[in-house]
Amino acid sequence: MYTNTCKHCQKLFKSRRKSYCCKECADIDKMRYEQIKAYLRHFPNSNAYQLADALDIDVYTVLKYVEEGSLVVSKGEFEKL
Ligand SMILES: [Zn+2]
Repeated sequence: MYTNTCKHCQKLFKSRRKSYCCKECADIDKMRYEQIKAYLRHFPNSNAYQLADALDIDVYTVLKYVEEGSLVVSKGEFEKL
């Protein structure tokens, strides 16, 4: 079992495999991810800070998406998704 921290509500929860989002935040997680993808389509060379600023979310949350493998970063900037 893993002890995880939800990247949206920062709640601790356990799961069989490593996870970055609790059940309650699944909808938010999807919505944010779509927003991030849409933003990166327009501004593919953004970094995490620009992205977080533009979408009004925490840099921490953006970095968690990177950590879980949803977003790919090279040289500090996002690669085209
Ligand atoms: Zn949560």
